[in-house]
Amino acid sequence: MKALQEKIRKDGIVLSDEVLKVDAFLNHQVDPVLMKQIGETFAGLFKQDGVTKILTLESSGISPALMTALELNVPMVFARKRKPFTQDADVYEASVHSFTKQTNHIISVSRAFLNQADRVLIVDDFLANGQAAEGLIDIIDQAGAELCGIGIVIEKAFQPGGKRLRDRGIRVESLASIRSLENGTVTFQEEAHA
Ligand code: 5GP
Repeated sequence: MKALQEKIRKDGIVLSDEVLKVDAFLNHQVDPVLMKQIGETFAGLFKQDGVTKILTLESSGISPALMTALELNVPMVFARKRKPFTQDADVYEASVHSFTKQTNHIISVSRAFLNQADRVLIVDDFLANGQAAEGLIDIIDQAGAELCGIGIVIEKAFQPGGKRLRDRGIRVESLASIRSLENGTVTFQEEAHA
């Protein structure tokens, strides 16, 4: 997605050979016009798949997931990283290793919001080692729901998550695919989606 690549080049900050900071438009301040375009693009890619629900992980996945849900006219559910006081005890849970924090945590989704009738599209901000996606897939499996595919805003293609998921036969669509962050520079793969 050209507008996304331009935004990454303009406002993304390469923190290391492995980490890109995009607080200016996705992870802290959010660019609603760009999120709308992202939602439209994911919706276009998955519109034939009978998606009934968008699933993401709080908090950074919520903006692109919500815009995708709006375009597909389906609800968006975000997995919580902590079991809050008010949440029903009746939850699906999975363990996820956080790439950015290097810790394990439990994510949870209320059983009220995901069931075997659902066809689920996962949307997330980044794909690195694929742990967040694996945790969400675990929850979809527990619900007996069907996974339609995964929409990723920024895939770091030099890390193994994308290959692992695709090797399992899962459809993964990323809107910007980064080949390298070496020398403080973002190098993209061939552009995938205009
Ligand atoms: P994974 O679970 O695929 O290893 O990592 C994906 C999660 O880690 C994303 O949900 C995102 O929050 C975070 N993440 C991974 N790599 C980066 C990165 O380079 N920059 C930022 N801002 N977040 C990242």
